[in-house]
Amino acid sequence: MSELEDIGSTPFDRMASHMEHEDLVCSECGYDDEDGSWRARTTGGQVLYTHVCPSCGAIRKRTYHLDRD
Ligand SMILES: [Zn+2]
Repeated sequence: MSELEDIGSTPFDRMASHMEHEDLVCSECGYDDEDGSWRARTTGGQVLYTHVCPSCGAIRKRTYHLDRD
């Protein structure tokens, strides 16, 4: 929990900032998608992130729950 800093005004901002530091290295083929990014989609109280590897097409997904203020 110590790595989470209050640098955003909303839970989504904080989450988006957090994801900027997530690696974009494909777990399937090892391709480093330096120019890529996670796509965020909010669904109710959670955020679904997806990243499609441009090399092999593998799809990685991560889901985060937003804090309720
Ligand atoms: Zn890949």
